[in-house]
Amino acid sequence: MSVKLKRHTSRSCAITSRNFNCIYIYGIIYPLRQNRAVNRFKFNFMTDILQLFKDFNIPHQTEGHKHCRPGWVNTACPFCSGNPGLHLGATLDGKIFYCWRCGWHAADKAVAGLLKIPIHKAKQLLIEYVGLFTPTEQTKKKIRLKSFKFPSDTGSLEKRHLAYLESRNFDAKKLVKDWNLQATGPISILDKTNYSHRILAPVYWQDEVVTFQARDITNKNDKKYLACPTERELMHHKHIIYGKQEKWKDTGICVEGITDVWRIGFDAFATFGIKYTPQQLRLIAQTFKRVPVLFDDDPQAKIEANKLVAELRFRNVDSFRVDITGDPGELTEQETRYLIKHLT
Ligand SMILES: [Zn+2]
Repeated sequence: MSVKLKRHTSRSCAITSRNFNCIYIYGIIYPLRQNRAVNRFKFNFMTDILQLFKDFNIPHQTEGHKHCRPGWVNTACPFCSGNPGLHLGATLDGKIFYCWRCGWHAADKAVAGLLKIPIHKAKQLLIEYVGLFTPTEQTKKKIRLKSFKFPSDTGSLEKRHLAYLESRNFDAKKLVKDWNLQATGPISILDKTNYSHRILAPVYWQDEVVTFQARDITNKNDKKYLACPTERELMHHKHIIYGKQEKWKDTGICVEGITDVWRIGFDAFATFGIKYTPQQLRLIAQTFKRVPVLFDDDPQAKIEANKLVAELRFRNVDSFRVDITGDPGELTEQETRYLIKHLT
């Protein structure tokens, strides 16, 4: 396999060029997230609308003006002309936007108007910041009925598990130690799902095991990866990213899956598949200043990588797509070292 590094600098962006221009016209070129370094490991999954105002430099006031009220943030209303006062107020939970002059506005339309972005974009930001438009997911979390646990017959790796890792050119013993890997035996079940013959990777979030992924070692199973049943996850795996959180630095190499992270090591993190979620996007932007995106070598992965790069750039993260031939998980030791050296 050959490694060719290509840094993509094109601005083929999910956000229209018009919006980019607007943002530059209003002077938002300087870091949008000045507090990122300080907040690196404080992950506020849902903050409030005030954080969105701060991150995107929307001029605002919460007190000291005749229109300000406790629990509200005020800004100039993008919907009415004339005196640009602080007429538009938003409740901190982002649910109500109300202008003293022109009345009520839907949250997504208000944010779209303030940032001069399309509605679908505004919706996405609202999901990131205040968790709107995801009532079903939130309800699900609250009514989790089953406790978190591993499948039956989960224990230490046996010879065949270690052999599988060695066959993929991993240093099996080091991997087990680095990632606290476990394994499932021949009869391993959880909630009627068959988890047998797999390497089980606990997924940590803030020092706690919150879910797991299980990789087939037989290469005979259609499902290479099995996740923890959703109703047992302490955190949905698509709301977090996989990696060694305590070792992360300013640059994080974004890969698709857990084995890619094992290959690259502590400089990498995975989104559990190429379809990243708004929650993951927000975490990535909050955590890293620079994100090379290294997905597998296939057309759909490239499309998703481009989208992610554009979204991250919009959030002032230095992001770019990296192309290699084949999958990151198949890189040799030497290729991996070369890659890390050039990307971090
Ligand atoms: Zn108004």
